[in-house]
Amino acid sequence: VINKLETTCPKSKALYQHAQTVIPNGVQHNLAFNYPFAIAMDKAKGAYLRDIDGNQYIDFLQAGGTTLLGSNYQPVLDKVQNLLAECGPVTGLLHQYEVKIAEEVIKHVPSVEMFRMLGSGTESVMAAIRLARNITGKKHIIKVGGGYHGWSDQMVYGLRIPGTGRREAHGIPKDISKYTHEVCPNDLANLRLMLNLNSLRGGTAAVIVEPIGPESGTRPVYFDYNQQVRTLCDEFDTLLIFDEVVSGFRFGLGGAQAYFNVDPDITVFGKCLTGGYPMAGGIGGRKEIMMSLAGGIGGKGGKKTFVGGTLSANPLSTVAGYYAIKEMERTNAAGIAGRAGDRLCAGLEEIIERRGLPYVAYNQGSIVHLETSGVLLLTLAKPIKALRENAKRKHMMEQMGAAYTAHGIISLAGSCLLTSMADTDPIIDEALNRFDEVFAL
Ligand code: PMP
Repeated sequence: VINKLETTCPKSKALYQHAQTVIPNGVQHNLAFNYPFAIAMDKAKGAYLRDIDGNQYIDFLQAGGTTLLGSNYQPVLDKVQNLLAECGPVTGLLHQYEVKIAEEVIKHVPSVEMFRMLGSGTESVMAAIRLARNITGKKHIIKVGGGYHGWSDQMVYGLRIPGTGRREAHGIPKDISKYTHEVCPNDLANLRLMLNLNSLRGGTAAVIVEPIGPESGTRPVYFDYNQQVRTLCDEFDTLLIFDEVVSGFRFGLGGAQAYFNVDPDITVFGKCLTGGYPMAGGIGGRKEIMMSLAGGIGGKGGKKTFVGGTLSANPLSTVAGYYAIKEMERTNAAGIAGRAGDRLCAGLEEIIERRGLPYVAYNQGSIVHLETSGVLLLTLAKPIKALRENAKRKHMMEQMGAAYTAHGIISLAGSCLLTSMADTDPIIDEALNRFDEVFAL
């Protein structure tokens, strides 16, 4: 596989080697796949990417899940280009699309009465937590183990280097991480215990979960898990934050909260919110909570929760997001991408069974997981063990990811495949043929 990539992607390899001299690791983004070297893309349209050596790929990375309408979707691009011609990307002042995108989010997402656009998922999680702390007057935060909520000091502290148990993120004072606690996925007794413990030390400001399960559903949760978490939060007077950075719009216009029929107090958005355009982030919730951002009702004694951002809610991001959401509504993008995910998953299951592979494929709509079977079984049986990924698995997934790339498929870290509205039946069938070639090796 490595030889094949070296033969077919010489320009990518050369660029990656040069990149390492000016960029730490040679890639700017932690999602960028760099085993055995990063592949550099120069064209993206619909379901396909093309690299600088002219190779074509079916794109199941979707820029980490942002491009539900397909890459470089023309109707949104047209609106963005019009806006850029009229006013450029930013003025720092109010623009009509800032209001329009807020109205769209409020219209579709059940628990959101007011909305504030921010710069990224990470920032939005930070804002949601600050809001929860200000509103409740409590300090502690509970997250679910294995869940990624961006790289702020308070949220990233638990990441471990696979196989070693050592922290991945250094430079974070213990004083900061001591207010963040992890519980096991699907384990309500563990969550209750943590809430009780926190009650002895001042209380829990918020429980933050990805409603589809940690790490985009890599560790799936039982259907009634979110409702049970909601009930526990109410019992302990704690706010519930849904991190819908991945599930927002991808799970339908109302996000995972509409699907599970559970209302969080604060919702965090990112990725699909701007249809893949930059500065994708925002938080929404009930009016009395959100007004704390303006220093109004809500918050202890109406104390303001401060958030900032020079480029937040700029005209470029908001026009892109507004028309992306409009197009998702007009086309039923989530439904189409979800059916593509079902077809991809069913085809992978067929390949796994026919070839007797030690793999498992499972999906929640447009989010398809392709894992070594042990991981999922461990997750369901003994959640905590599954969180301690081992180095062997990581290397195996890297190799699988490289093999998929060599056969014209870009995946997310070799184990997750995100579909978009551009994935027609023939494209999915073509992808399945390519997977079959890989597994024939
Ligand atoms: N929350 C979740 C669930 C995510 O998947 C991510 C990004 N992968 C983030 C937060 C952070 O978002 P961003 O990369 O935009 O800061």
